[in-house]
Amino acid sequence: MEKGFERPLLGDMSPEEFRVAGYSLVDWITRFLSEIGDYPVFPTVKPGEFASRLPAVAPDQGEAMAEILKDIDSLMPFMTHWNHPRFFAYFNSSASGPGILADLLTAALSPNAMLWQSCPAATELELVTLAWLRGLLGLPEDYFGIIHDTASTSTLHAVIAAREAASDLRIRELGMAGRGDLPALRVYCSEQTHSSFDKAVLSAGLGEASIRRVAVDDLFRMRVDAFEEALREDLASGARPLCAVATVGTTSCTAIDPVDEIASICERYKVWLHVDAAHAGPVAMLPEARHLFKGWERADSIVLNPHKWMFVPLDLSVLYTRRREAFLRAFSFVPEYLRTEQQAENLMDYGIPLGRRFRALKLWFVLRYFGADGMAARLREHLALARDFAGWIDAQPDFERMAAVPLSTVCFRAHPTGLDESELDALNERLMHSLNATGRIFLSHTRLNGQYVLRLVVSHLRTRDEDIAEAERLLLEKLKELRR
Ligand SMILES: *Cc1c(COP(=O)(O)O)cnc(C)c1O
Repeated sequence: MEKGFERPLLGDMSPEEFRVAGYSLVDWITRFLSEIGDYPVFPTVKPGEFASRLPAVAPDQGEAMAEILKDIDSLMPFMTHWNHPRFFAYFNSSASGPGILADLLTAALSPNAMLWQSCPAATELELVTLAWLRGLLGLPEDYFGIIHDTASTSTLHAVIAAREAASDLRIRELGMAGRGDLPALRVYCSEQTHSSFDKAVLSAGLGEASIRRVAVDDLFRMRVDAFEEALREDLASGARPLCAVATVGTTSCTAIDPVDEIASICERYKVWLHVDAAHAGPVAMLPEARHLFKGWERADSIVLNPHKWMFVPLDLSVLYTRRREAFLRAFSFVPEYLRTEQQAENLMDYGIPLGRRFRALKLWFVLRYFGADGMAARLREHLALARDFAGWIDAQPDFERMAAVPLSTVCFRAHPTGLDESELDALNERLMHSLNATGRIFLSHTRLNGQYVLRLVVSHLRTRDEDIAEAERLLLEKLKELRR
């Protein structure tokens, strides 16, 4: 037992014990965040190594809080550090100070935002912060927003709502099984669309056979002519097109689908348009970048993740829609015990989960702390750093750029002379692993046109020009080593 603290037989820790442990944890986090750049960003450990150090069963006797806090350090060698300034992989997410503090407060308050009366502040703050964000993004006022955990969940909701918007199919009432009266159902995406759309379609019971994967052009954008041709073909064969997804900022190389043209076709054929801007969405705050989003204001639904490029800790995804009624048709189901008196928004009506975290709190903290100007300055800095890095790649004789850089993700590979395509693939794969093994930077890869490509993403709150310079230095050093 910790000195000075009687463990109560029942109930929670004492306020005094909480205060001491709380300050000590905040001190740990403060030191961690100020030294994060010195940690290896990527762990060199084997699967199962960490689990094998832990006891196989939970403790019988309670342990002192000081002992538990001491063990935080034992996690560190097994962490991939997402808060690290040289985390350049995937699409990163960075937790800012105000976001971290808000998450602590969310846990302390721990309300359930299912009904207005189950927590008026949580419900109303969600509505207000999403209206603020909508304004910053330049979206029309008829978009209604709701917070989910991830873009995968947001997109699943959009696909189910699109299915229910075709209310004449009576899928809510009758389901889809055993029905000879249902036409074949079709959904449309591009070859570069994120896999969360496929998963949403599978989860919505539409099946893999419903997916039409439309070809892309040389900039990896959905080909509008191919999209319209697929629609025509399906209609001619008696199939029923339900929805299409257009992406602003695809996951491989941040391609920008021609949303405006796709929207026109969707309107003409009465197809639900879902815009996936999970990563890129916040960039719409910049007037000079708004053109990349042209047409998204015509979408039926839009997803973006403040946990990706708005410095909000995981998890917080925003789903906007102008088709509220389709979401209600899809998801509203009110048992007796949840009936309430008030004429108020009950956010459980718009989605699958009943219990809902108070996620709006961290959006509120972050939007207020940085302000629209502070947020824009950081986004601009990321775009500029990525432009510089792309220029550096272009100037290197032994590297080449593999895609355009409309945002801040640079796709490139090493390309020394005298190697064939399969040797280049192997070299670049080894290059990435040897870079990541340094613990100094963390990159991820993709394939474009079948070729193995490295990605460097600049969207991290803590990334500065010296971090890009370090990546450049290591790229040259490791390539030289591998070529020896
Ligand atoms: C990251 C990403 C997703 C998936 O996001 P989650 O929140 O992890 O589910 C979907 N689409 C795009 C374009 C993304 O970049």
